[in-house]
Amino acid sequence: MRTCVFFHAHPDDEALLTAGLMARLADAGHRVVLVVATAGERGRTGLPTVSLGPLRLRELEESARVLGCARVVPLGYPDSGLDGGAPGGFASRPVAEPAGRLAAILREEDADLLTVYDEHGGYGHPDHVQVHRVGVEAARLAGTRVVLEATVDRDRLWRWLRPLSKVLPLDGWRQAYTPGSRISHRVDVRRYAAAKRAAMAAHASQGSGGPRLLAVLRRLPDPVFRHALGTEYYVRR
Ligand SMILES: [Zn+2]
Repeated sequence: MRTCVFFHAHPDDEALLTAGLMARLADAGHRVVLVVATAGERGRTGLPTVSLGPLRLRELEESARVLGCARVVPLGYPDSGLDGGAPGGFASRPVAEPAGRLAAILREEDADLLTVYDEHGGYGHPDHVQVHRVGVEAARLAGTRVVLEATVDRDRLWRWLRPLSKVLPLDGWRQAYTPGSRISHRVDVRRYAAAKRAAMAAHASQGSGGPRLLAVLRRLPDPVFRHALGTEYYVRR
């Protein structure tokens, strides 16, 4: 049995990016621990941040339950917001302090594996870039041997987006995530599509009120869902 720590920026990032691997590892008997830097209280909803944070942490608990996580650790940093402008947000913190806290969890858990994000923070959210920096430093401090960057195959993503880019401003996505040639692990998680969809559904506050990515993806018909989200992508550092 191994202990695998998944480090994420906001509640719902785990559902989109790593839920399949988390469910697969938990199903195989490994200990899966979910650490989230912020409560995602600046996610786009009509709710004030003071009530959205606690709601999103409850949604995270439900997502973690359906994925089979043994433990959820919210680090409690303020969400920086997509423009990174929130004062005192996670993205603006010096790396050492949050890295020290994450390293303490890695030591306590005797973690065999840590997931972080790629250096672009995927699509570039400042808190996601910070997850990369903090996670890499924490693994160094704790001596965690296996560090995987959770990412998306940029070439495959762009094949999906290119037709839409003629009508939507999507050019920024050309440089998001990781080129296909650098992906070290393509993990087949089609058997865990139902768990992944349930994890996405747990984040109800992020799945309503307009054409939101999570809302669109979680309503895809089964075969399309498995095709679009049935593979997860990792780069071993
Ligand atoms: Zn996020």
